[in-house]
Amino acid sequence: MERKNVWETYNAHQLEELEAHALRYREFLDRGKTERECIDYIVNSAKEAGYRELQTLIEEKATLKKGDKVYAVWMNKSIILFQIGEKPLEEGMNILGAHIDSPRLDIKQNPLYEEGGFAYLDTHYYGGVKKYQWVTLPLAIHGVVMKKDGTTVEIHVGDDEEDPVFFVSDLLVHLAAEQLEKKAAKVIEGEALDVIIGNKPLLLQQEQEGEEKKEVGKEAVKQGILAILKEAYHIEEEDFISAELEVVPAGKAREAGFDRSMILAYGQDDRVCAFSSLEAMLELKETEKTACCILVDKEEIGSVGATGMKSRFFENMVAEVMNLMGGYSELALRRCLSASKMLSSDVSSAFDPSYASSFDKKNVAYMGKGLVLNKFTGARGKSGSNDANAEYLAQLRAIFEKEQVHFQTAELGRVDLGGGGTIAYILARYGMDVIDSGVAVLNMHSPWEATNKADVYEAKRGYAAFLKNT
Ligand code: MN
Ligand code: MN
Repeated sequence: MERKNVWETYNAHQLEELEAHALRYREFLDRGKTERECIDYIVNSAKEAGYRELQTLIEEKATLKKGDKVYAVWMNKSIILFQIGEKPLEEGMNILGAHIDSPRLDIKQNPLYEEGGFAYLDTHYYGGVKKYQWVTLPLAIHGVVMKKDGTTVEIHVGDDEEDPVFFVSDLLVHLAAEQLEKKAAKVIEGEALDVIIGNKPLLLQQEQEGEEKKEVGKEAVKQGILAILKEAYHIEEEDFISAELEVVPAGKAREAGFDRSMILAYGQDDRVCAFSSLEAMLELKETEKTACCILVDKEEIGSVGATGMKSRFFENMVAEVMNLMGGYSELALRRCLSASKMLSSDVSSAFDPSYASSFDKKNVAYMGKGLVLNKFTGARGKSGSNDANAEYLAQLRAIFEKEQVHFQTAELGRVDLGGGGTIAYILARYGMDVIDSGVAVLNMHSPWEATNKADVYEAKRGYAAFLKNT
């Protein structure tokens, strides 16, 4: 069964919309290089679209009714948006979900050291990375330092034209004969992914016999960096203990190809689905069922922790919304959750002709062929998968056909090769219909991932059709 290339199908108006969507998407990627930065962007956009903060409404003992829009943020790293529909919540919601964390290098809690005249920050990589891809790239540092006095210092350095960048070194090829004998997984080891942040000693001014003398103290390069951090950010070495600093590729999201058909950027897994879900949610007109959009943290490390999908945060917020609508009971909440339907969106691996043997050509996502539906994911014998119900797939086919949304069905790769998990199975535990859907990505999980603009646009169209028709 052949699928059309969706570029063939667009009229002039759609092409205009597609380009506008791609441009906003690139701005989102540039402004959201961490979960916290994504949350800032999402909250601002939601407020502009008329969303109000749930916590404030709870304190005001407000009531929620049809058409109301609310959002709830958890620990500055996850967010849920609701748009109240006409029907009672017990009849279920239409839910979009995606994640806003991406693979990167996290800075350790005692990171700063000096060696061979360089100052380094020690890192611990986050999510699945091919470590050798992270050397000799310009890197930026984004994140926050929480000080003991309760103040927050925001750090983002490396992405403005004038900013310095950072990097991880690699051995020159002339001396790499031994290194190149190693397996790719071992060529660069996790502890070698330390980031170089300085190479100049702090000079101490000393007066001797009436003469100014310059002197270099112990660990002078490290001391120099600490002096800069103190001046620029008012932080001390100890403050790294309560910091969350992420090392990410420096640079903006770019159009790729002479035809500008693609986007090359860091963090498209899964900010491409997060952004397209958000846009579909924010442009939504009044609906019968309540619409919900969940954008969460920690998917890349198993959806753990208070801000991951396995946290009770989602279910708690549904209970709060139900309570403000006046119909809360434990049973009503259970009924609402099990009657809901969800598109759990995450990226899918795009067919790569250079590595054709890793895929089943009939069951892989192609760039430019639209929204991807993965009935199941998982490794080998579908381990870790959410296997969506055929009845649900039939319903989605009908909706997408009606709204002329172009979609394709796919698996990640060849059956015995491996696979991955998403957040789908976690929501499926409530008994609701959930399917994995998303956008095809080339070079997935690399520092610079590629998507096709048409797929990004088609994802937004698909999510909008789902919210309106399910
Ligand atoms: Mn993902
Ligand atoms: Mn991933």
